Amino acid sequence: MSEQEFFHAGERVGVLTTQPLDRVLDYRAPEGGCFRGAYVEVPLGPRKVLGVIWGPGQGDFDSAKLRSVNRVLDVAPMREEMRQFLSRAADYTLTPMSSMLRLATRAPGLSDPVSMRKVLRRGLSEPERMTDARARVLAALEDYGGLAFTPKELSDLAGVTPSVVKGLVKQGALREEEAPRDLPYPHLDPELPGKTLTDDQAEAAEVLAEAVQSGAYGTTLLKGVTGSGKTEVYLEAVASCLRAGRQALVLLPEIALTAEFLTRVEARFGATPAEWHSGATMTERRRVWRMVGQGNAQLVIGARSSLFLPFQNLGLIIVDEEHDTSYKQEDGVLYNARDMAVLRAAMCSAQVVLASATPSLESWTNAEAGKYRRLDLTARFGAAVLPDMRAIDMRTEKLAPATWISPTLRSAMSKRLERGEQSLLFLNRRGFAPVTICRACGEQVACDHCDARMVEHRFQNRLMCHQCGETKPLPTVCPSCEVEGKMAPVGPGIERLGEEAASVFPDARIAVLSSDLFGSARALKERISEIAKGEADIILGTQLVAKGHNFPLLTLVGVIDADLGLQGSDLRAAERTFQLMRQVAGRAGRAEKPGEALLQSFQPEHPVIRAILTGDEEGFWKAEAAERQAAGVPPYGRMAGIILSGPDLAQVFDLGNALARNDGPLRSIGAQVYGPAPAPIARIRGRHRVRLLVKADKGVPLQDAISRWIAPCRLKGELRLNVDIDPQNFF
Ligand code: ADP
Ligand code: ZN
Repeated sequence: MSEQEFFHAGERVGVLTTQPLDRVLDYRAPEGGCFRGAYVEVPLGPRKVLGVIWGPGQGDFDSAKLRSVNRVLDVAPMREEMRQFLSRAADYTLTPMSSMLRLATRAPGLSDPVSMRKVLRRGLSEPERMTDARARVLAALEDYGGLAFTPKELSDLAGVTPSVVKGLVKQGALREEEAPRDLPYPHLDPELPGKTLTDDQAEAAEVLAEAVQSGAYGTTLLKGVTGSGKTEVYLEAVASCLRAGRQALVLLPEIALTAEFLTRVEARFGATPAEWHSGATMTERRRVWRMVGQGNAQLVIGARSSLFLPFQNLGLIIVDEEHDTSYKQEDGVLYNARDMAVLRAAMCSAQVVLASATPSLESWTNAEAGKYRRLDLTARFGAAVLPDMRAIDMRTEKLAPATWISPTLRSAMSKRLERGEQSLLFLNRRGFAPVTICRACGEQVACDHCDARMVEHRFQNRLMCHQCGETKPLPTVCPSCEVEGKMAPVGPGIERLGEEAASVFPDARIAVLSSDLFGSARALKERISEIAKGEADIILGTQLVAKGHNFPLLTLVGVIDADLGLQGSDLRAAERTFQLMRQVAGRAGRAEKPGEALLQSFQPEHPVIRAILTGDEEGFWKAEAAERQAAGVPPYGRMAGIILSGPDLAQVFDLGNALARNDGPLRSIGAQVYGPAPAPIARIRGRHRVRLLVKADKGVPLQDAISRWIAPCRLKGELRLNVDIDPQNFF
């Protein structure tokens, strides 16, 4: 096997580094030699950088000047399948390999020597005098069958002071040892009894378990209404994977990665799995990376970048809430974790399960075409039934100026308050008011660096640009006409809605859930779990409440502006609105009590709103698919966005025009280029943004054509060019 390829000391090797040089560099193999795939530290100029032995050297570098690899790192070498995955992902997303390697090594301290710490075991001697506390320490060690603990763990475990433990060490009853700091994860036991599945669930679980046992690649779309038990079903697929001795990965949208979810996994397998997300500590990340690489972590629960962990024997990837737009990484390497999961699984003969109540049109189409297996769970578990969904026709409701909760919605909320149940008001707008206007001259306060209006955040008492994050104080004098005292907020944000709810229901406990109101993801998650236990009567939330939280007492969802998402020119506007509304509505009535969802709309006869209300999902997808097919857009055609940006508008446009004129490589595959045109957000952080859009038929070598097309571009000064394959957002 090529993985075993060995290079003797002094032989010429090619090293891929994490530095932005678009080539593999030649070095001499270090003393003791090295295998292909080994992680190494190499000198580069005055620095030492991380790299991987990629293969034999290119040989085009003067061998007299060749430097030696400093050392081989004490981590598992990169496997052949990982290297293929990174190469294929780089080709697909048109990303340099060095950036892919950076993604795959995002753990701190990889090049540090394995760090050690002091642990204690039972020693040979008996304590001079047996006290109660001493006996407890020794009993604790015995209970854990010879495991070693740090002094702190041991004193906590036994419930004694640290001095008791120290005393036992001194007397030789405890023995000190050095052990690696990064401990393996506790063993997960797939044989523990899971929940008793319903017939539907058991059938789906059986199909997945068989697929996993086949040891071959395959993708399954697991579609099931919220609360139907998709998680229970895919945990059985995980069990089957663990039984086969392979590793499993569960991908969740970052915000859905809650303590509640981890508790469920722990209940099923008897121990906590490895966790990988932006909130994890540096030490934890390093431990996950190393243990995954050694095969000492059987299951990882993680956000999208966990796809790039060095699994040794990956057998199953679950992508939960697969339609979620946060799976698309929107800066740095532009990849879609859902698509990359399928690619990675294909490289290592693993199964993929895409779980969702409202799949993406891409996955729905792949299932229709027979590329993916499809499993459906149609009923909610137990007594829970799907909420009753209705529109509130806003044209016939009487609302006072600057209020947004209609009388119909208000009376539904009153009923919940009387019964001690929870209501959720959904509005996908952060801040207090989206626009601040001068009532004298009509000026709207805009960001100085972006083509965007500034949003008032009353909680912080400032205006904020949601593009670049710039803030400024609320002006009392109009920046344009200089009239004083005429600045006024227009339209509702979630904070303003909170004020309205508080004035309508002064005695209710109101919780506003918006990511920017919490100092950390952890604080937000804690608040969410308090609310789930009933510590609020009315919950107001932005998009983040749509994601996988379980509020058992919630029986009413009110959507303040169901038309909001329909206005965009985005090709996925209808799909997104459909998914979001169904997801939000799915929050209601998850336990025994039936739920109700009310959608405030000025156009209740709009086909998308109708489809949401009737729940005719297949009908909606068929219609949406037909429209996309007719237009030749994804998933029936291919697209790529090219974003050019720079401080000088004329220069950015010149580059755009030059690209549009020299479109030979694109025409050779029958692709068309549109633009250049100012991007929908024409300026961000003082940089002008211009877009080109490439459209092509399915099945043509799009990436190859784009590479040839942009290759002659010389990016002078601060000009930047970014390629976004399969763009999700058109901003
Ligand atoms: P989904 O992932 O489809 O939203 P979950 O797996 O979270 O659904 O299930 C919804 C709720 O119903 C959870 O609290 C879950 O524990 C419970 N549940 C689902 N199936 C079963 C079952 N067979 N036995 C007991 N509880 C179940
Ligand atoms: Zn800005």
